[in-house]
Amino acid sequence: MRLCCGHCHVELEDDDVVVLDEFNFVRHEEGYDLPDHLIQGIDTLDNILERFGLFEKEYLH
Ligand SMILES: [Zn+2]
Repeated sequence: MRLCCGHCHVELEDDDVVVLDEFNFVRHEEGYDLPDHLIQGIDTLDNILERFGLFEKEYLH
């Protein structure tokens, strides 16, 4: 099981550049339409998961 983009619901690859928002949703950078203050980070999925200590299980409800 992998993370899916919160915008287009396509599975995210480790090297995709994604935006992490305040609700810990990730989406492709090109789907980005949030004000800066709602964004926790923009980086590759790999780096986002590492930087924020997030793991897939936290997204899989
Ligand atoms: Zn997307």
